[in-house]
Amino acid sequence: MTPADHPDIVEQFCGICCDFGERGWCRATSGNFSARIDDCHCLITKSGRNKARLTIEDLMMCNFDTGAMDPDCKSSAETPLHMHLYQLDDAVGAVLHTHSVAATVLSRHAGDSLSITGYEMQKALHNISSHEENVTIPIFKNDQDMNALAERVTTAWRDGRLAVPGFLIAGHGLYAWGKDLDEARRHVEGFEFLFECLWQEPLTKLP
Ligand SMILES: [Zn+2]
Repeated sequence: MTPADHPDIVEQFCGICCDFGERGWCRATSGNFSARIDDCHCLITKSGRNKARLTIEDLMMCNFDTGAMDPDCKSSAETPLHMHLYQLDDAVGAVLHTHSVAATVLSRHAGDSLSITGYEMQKALHNISSHEENVTIPIFKNDQDMNALAERVTTAWRDGRLAVPGFLIAGHGLYAWGKDLDEARRHVEGFEFLFECLWQEPLTKLP
């Protein structure tokens, strides 16, 4: 099984990556993206690729349990986080990870979670139907040991602390997912819009 076996997903996948890369959400080859293929495999970006110029050559197949299917391909160091999310819930169809400036800064100053209310854009998130609801996004401490970080995320998921389809890593960025690439994309765009609003609010104290 190779990425070329899934041309429709690859085309959609590369379009989203390039779009997010051009928005400045994956600078310096940061960020990583994946899409479920079946019960135990996903497409995932190779390590160190320019997301704004992503092509099928920058993608590889990964088994949730055993990792890269082609031993010559190296996926991101953050691959364990993607694999854990797919294994936690069969309904996770795509996982998108961005490093925007707003997410990076806000996640350093909000403690264990970021709470948002009052924004219409909250409704971009699955199961949120009103601006009056409170959206709580967990924030995990950054860690270079991605297996340890993935275990902490797994524990939080099982404890019901991941009520919205995303979380932040402090000083690092956003992870968001959805039932498919379209929904995951909408979630990233919704989260990133909300982060930009929060980060600009202190600048708009009108007289
Ligand atoms: Zn990252």
